[in-house]
Amino acid sequence: MPMPIYLDNHATTRVDPRVLDAMWPYFGEQYGNASSRHHVFGRAAEQAVETAREQVANLIGASPREIVFTSGATESNNLALKGVLARVGSPEAHVITGVTEHHAVLDPLARLERQGYRITRLPVDRYGCIDPAQVEAAFTEQTVLVSLMAANNEIGTLHPVEEIGRLCKRRGVLFHTDAAQAVGKIPLDVEAMGIDLLSLSGHKIYGPKGVGALYVRRRGPTVRLDALFDGGGHERGLRSGTLNVPGIVGLGAACALCAEELPVEAERLIRLRNRLRDGIIEGTEGVTLNGHPTQRLPGNLNLSFAWVRGEALLMGLRGVAVSSGAACTSANPEPSYVLRALGVDDELAQASLRFGLGRFTTAEEIESVIAEVCRVLQQIRSLSPSYQLHRSS
Ligand SMILES: *Cc1c(COP(=O)(O)O)cnc(C)c1O
Repeated sequence: MPMPIYLDNHATTRVDPRVLDAMWPYFGEQYGNASSRHHVFGRAAEQAVETAREQVANLIGASPREIVFTSGATESNNLALKGVLARVGSPEAHVITGVTEHHAVLDPLARLERQGYRITRLPVDRYGCIDPAQVEAAFTEQTVLVSLMAANNEIGTLHPVEEIGRLCKRRGVLFHTDAAQAVGKIPLDVEAMGIDLLSLSGHKIYGPKGVGALYVRRRGPTVRLDALFDGGGHERGLRSGTLNVPGIVGLGAACALCAEELPVEAERLIRLRNRLRDGIIEGTEGVTLNGHPTQRLPGNLNLSFAWVRGEALLMGLRGVAVSSGAACTSANPEPSYVLRALGVDDELAQASLRFGLGRFTTAEEIESVIAEVCRVLQQIRSLSPSYQLHRSS
């Protein structure tokens, strides 16, 4: 049984062999602690970390001193949200976010809400987009922070980050964006976009798992936050704990590759993604696109299929590794809250697939996926009473 074709690049990506090459020495002879500045082992590690810091900063238009290394986007989001509110200190503080955010934003905010802070969750339109006018209307005297993702992990929809940033600047409100899916895939610039805090993750950009970063603006305004944990005072006191040197080196290398290859890679992925979309739509019927037709991540395609059940679809697609629009964590699959927020009905939401194309996806793979999806749909529908009813009507 050959390995299936990997189209789940929103869940995680393969480490780029060039990233792995950059990391190896730091598992081997370069094993120093980046805080041990008094000997050559430590200094070599520190130097590698500082190079990585520049590589990360460079990808998002930040300065290296604004980058805090973390264990990933989940931690970065927690540090940004809890850190800012802890420092603000006012129990009246108000935060604006959206209903389609990742759990790594929704859940820390839910906890903060239980502690008494005010949270407004904005709805989205049928494409999963936030209207900046709604952000503006939601501001109160107590608003201290807006947290809206740059790109959605299920439907790929891009938020108007620059407009939201401008609104926040005008109000003097901090703007955090979870950019785990957007970094390295679309151009991002924290200065041009008025971003004050930005979360990113290594394993979404062909780097290692368990490493990420939080961008924290230092000037205009200076963002102040409390750390999540206390210890040796690493990362300017914002993230104590011995630095994950190999991971950080890998994250840096991954960012450098993204910066270099982004324009060409994005164009290639858009072409492959559109071919996949058109191939499936032409090859079968009852297909609808979820998310925005154009304002979406290059590698993202999210489709719903009429007259099939979600589980049957996933079971049938043996040769393709994809995610479905249902949370399969329980015995009764719940339709995705993101698709629900767009107004997709539960049955269609359950019968949806998220295709995540990536750096290592080939044109041949896309052709086989088109063929397999159409074949499996036909097979399932031939047994489906609702499809037979549709055919005879
Ligand atoms: C993957 C992802 C996260 C979590 O990142 P980790 O590095 O795995 O903690 C957060 N937000 C979004 C949008 C993601 O896609």
